Amino acid sequence: MKLGIVGAGVAGLAAALACTRASVAYDLLDRATQPLEGGVALTLWPNALRALRDLGVDVRGAGWAAIEEGDIADMRGRALYRLPVAWMRARFGFLPVCVRRSDLLRQMHSAAGSPRIERCEVRRLSVSAGRVEVETDAGLRSYDGLLLADGIRGTARQSLVQARTRPTHYVAWRGIAHGVDVGRRMREIWGRGFRFGYAAMGAGDVYWFATINRSRLGRAGGAPEAWRILTALAAESPPEVARMMAATPTEGVYAHVIDDLAPGLPLAVGRIALLGDTAHAITPNLGFGGGLALEDGAALMRALVAHRVAEEPGALAAAFQAYAEVRRRRVARMAQVTRWLGDVMQWEGKAAACARDTLFRWMAPLGDRLVWTWMLGG
Ligand SMILES: Cc1cc2nc3c(=O)[nH]c(=O)nc-3n(C[C@H](O)[C@H](O)[C@H](O)COP(=O)(O)OP(=O)(O)OC[C@H]3O[C@@H](n4cnc5c(N)ncnc54)[C@H](O)[C@@H]3O)c2cc1C
Repeated sequence: MKLGIVGAGVAGLAAALACTRASVAYDLLDRATQPLEGGVALTLWPNALRALRDLGVDVRGAGWAAIEEGDIADMRGRALYRLPVAWMRARFGFLPVCVRRSDLLRQMHSAAGSPRIERCEVRRLSVSAGRVEVETDAGLRSYDGLLLADGIRGTARQSLVQARTRPTHYVAWRGIAHGVDVGRRMREIWGRGFRFGYAAMGAGDVYWFATINRSRLGRAGGAPEAWRILTALAAESPPEVARMMAATPTEGVYAHVIDDLAPGLPLAVGRIALLGDTAHAITPNLGFGGGLALEDGAALMRALVAHRVAEEPGALAAAFQAYAEVRRRRVARMAQVTRWLGDVMQWEGKAAACARDTLFRWMAPLGDRLVWTWMLGG
């Protein structure tokens, strides 16, 4: 028995690890020439680290910068909320970390036994006589089942379900600053229609992101003009923001359109299971999308093992159904929560932003342990 895995991003590699741990053979396909390279960095919360550990990845090695303090602050640098990171470690066994995407992918790939990644683009899928036929630019493949992890804009998914991306009213930039000392800290600064967040990566490197409402960009025609607006907003922020932007090579700055998928897509259709952004892309407002993909991988592994798929290939569809059932509610709720939070965090009006900050300062500490337990419990 052999499965095909489409996509070698976080979700595809989580699927590869799940198969490896469940002794199920697979082929890994990706259209990119170097799928393990590129991207910027991810913050991973304890739920993601637990999933990685369950999938057999050593999360305490080099390249994993643990975050020892964190807060949300206003534009004057006054803390609105302190992240309970020590409590997270006591409760869930891990501090949050910040890791380069390429380091994460390489370590996942190595933990799966460094499988060959075949470079090919999947164009269409069809199911016949209990097999999944995969049409690629390098010819036709046939598998007993398929794990689809081709991301939010995955074209392979379209032959299975009609998915609709939902735009947001903000865009994001990400980069890595060099030679800036912020300790072992993460911080998010809330402005009006503007947010700036960062997390220490160790050795003076700091991962940062900025989100800005399209309305604040006005008619900014191209990247240089948008960058000038962003720099002006940085100058109004706490001083470390401008320092970080100045210490970032411009060729390492990535611009992102922010959208998500309307929740409710099926996570399994017969002999095909969907993982990661292709099934449930969420807005990045909590830094949770990659973590959900890792949770998917751990849940899939448990389903494959529980249904003894390696010994009984006929149990594959039941295992995929069990995986989908376990994940369905969790991913739909996270999509709703992150989208709503993004709208509030990007409030632009002076009175609204001021009320948000005041309310948040007083209310957030009251129920935060309950909320974090729900979010990090997986
Ligand atoms: C601004 C921003 C900040 C973020 N910050 C965080 C964070 O801090 N923490 C976090 O956990 N998450 C974060 N995320 C979310 C996270 O990046 C994603 O959820 C995660 O990378 C999705 O992984 P994936 O494997 O599902 O998809 P992808 O990473 O998109 O991988 C899909 C793979 O499939 C391949 N592929 C696509 N189509 C085909 C095809 N037809 N045939 C073959 N191969 C194909 C692609 O080449 C790619 O390698 C952020 C996202 C954004 C936009």
